[in-house]
Amino acid sequence: MTRADFKVGEVALHPGERAADNGSASAHPGSIDGDAAAAFRSAGARLSDMLERFSRNAEVSRYSNLDTLARELRDSSSPEEAMPFENYLDYLEAHILPYAVNVSSPRCLGHMAGGVPRFASLLAQFVTALNQNLVKSEASQAFTLIERQTIGMMHSLIFGYPSSFYDQHIQTNDSALGIMTSGSTIANITGLWIARNRAFGPAADSVGASMEGLDAPLAHHSGRRAVIVGSTLMHYSFDKAANLLGLRVCKVPADAAGRIELDLLRESVDRCLQAGERVISIVGVAGTTDCGSIDSINEMADVAAEAGSHFHIDAAWGAPLMFSRRYRLALAGIERADSVAVDGHKQMMLPLGTSMLLLRDPTSANAIKQKARYMLQEHSSDLGRYSLEGSRPNTALYLHAALHVIGREGYESIIDENMRKTAWMCDEIRRRPEFELVVPSQTNIVLYRYVPEYYRHRRGGGGLSESDNARISAFNERLQQAQFRAGRSYVSRTLMDNTEHYRDVPIIVLRAVLGNPNTTDRDIAFLLDDQTEIAAGLDNTMDDRPERPPPLDQGEQA
Ligand SMILES: *Cc1c(COP(=O)(O)O)cnc(C)c1O
Repeated sequence: MTRADFKVGEVALHPGERAADNGSASAHPGSIDGDAAAAFRSAGARLSDMLERFSRNAEVSRYSNLDTLARELRDSSSPEEAMPFENYLDYLEAHILPYAVNVSSPRCLGHMAGGVPRFASLLAQFVTALNQNLVKSEASQAFTLIERQTIGMMHSLIFGYPSSFYDQHIQTNDSALGIMTSGSTIANITGLWIARNRAFGPAADSVGASMEGLDAPLAHHSGRRAVIVGSTLMHYSFDKAANLLGLRVCKVPADAAGRIELDLLRESVDRCLQAGERVISIVGVAGTTDCGSIDSINEMADVAAEAGSHFHIDAAWGAPLMFSRRYRLALAGIERADSVAVDGHKQMMLPLGTSMLLLRDPTSANAIKQKARYMLQEHSSDLGRYSLEGSRPNTALYLHAALHVIGREGYESIIDENMRKTAWMCDEIRRRPEFELVVPSQTNIVLYRYVPEYYRHRRGGGGLSESDNARISAFNERLQQAQFRAGRSYVSRTLMDNTEHYRDVPIIVLRAVLGNPNTTDRDIAFLLDDQTEIAAGLDNTMDDRPERPPPLDQGEQA
């Protein structure tokens, strides 16, 4: 192994080390010269080319069979000898990248998180090279202030307090307008953690749930159990939160549009209270993962106020609608929430790991505040005092940059255009006889399904039996898998069990998420054509032909 083998890594570790090597041949003032710097730049250029080639292809995935790759990656011995970084890049390009999913493809409509703008990729280099740790101000300095400002900007977007409020709290050590998290899962858990500790705060004879577990505070508050109440379409992170925090989850059915049934919500809350349960939080969803539906926020806020409970809103998907003057109306009342979870890596198109919990009351995070002798001082500016996570990367910077580089107007036009495309796709689905729109889209997620020809004239209303629907569901599942294998376009699928035409009948539906600004109407048409073509192929090639007429029993004659 020679020293030269480490060139690229060496420069990455010590960016300024060789700056003085060769000052005379400087290309422009302040540029860093030397062999190692040149090697670093050339590896960087090579990497960008490789990524550019990969993401420019409109295909979503080239290979879906991972068997060979899995065999290759079964080797558990780590290499003894160092490998030049260029060779490692060769390996990635030849053996691994072809199997990656091109989430930037304008025809990849299955995921909530997708491609990132170019400036975010460049910024990732900045974030990684500086490697600031936001757990502690002394490991991040300026970036602790940037993070606080970013959270303040997002807080203002959601809660819209006057600027004097932000003047007072944004950079004040003992105020927390929010907490950056690696995802909305952690944001939801943190929101309920705060809610629980506030509900079971220190009483005269106890130090509260934060130190004693739940038994003592529950006994003190003479409650039998602690419960959170939200709709059946709540994200599964609430099950995790409840499990970790010792809470029961009460799930209330959603209506055919995917919004919590308010009467059933009120009944459930009453029943919990009558049973002596403590309602820790009412949970509203602003943009369900399944279908993008938004709960009736104002009405839920009233229920929470009456029950004296915390009100948490999971706006992981929907919060960016606030950038749009037109679509923010769908979130009316969100400013009444005690806490709101927001994902930066979904509609805001930022790198994964960029999320936050926003808090209406800047003192509420005191309920979970930690101290650590070597690390987190009581009245310091250390952001780690409030976060569930420990060491934390500088993801707030992506958000901070995006709020400048894209701006409110930029996000507004992206959101408005995504909503226009959603309406276009819904129209196109209604226009094509082989498809059926299953849930009316409230935000930019479209739920629909393919209806094999045999069933077409009976769909909608009560024309299809449960067994018909089971067959159509099985067909759509196969269609979605075949589409993924074909790799030209992609949607995901989900199971809905209470739709307009099929109440209480679970059906499998195709799910398109329209979050990529590069997706055009033509891409959407391509995707629907692609599905029609694949479905026609399935009719002929599947052993178990799903459209084969079922036996005419149970009075099913058409
Ligand atoms: C994506 C999502 C989550 C989870 O967020 P992660 O960032 O994946 O942890 C929670 N709630 C909703 C509504 C979501 O769409």
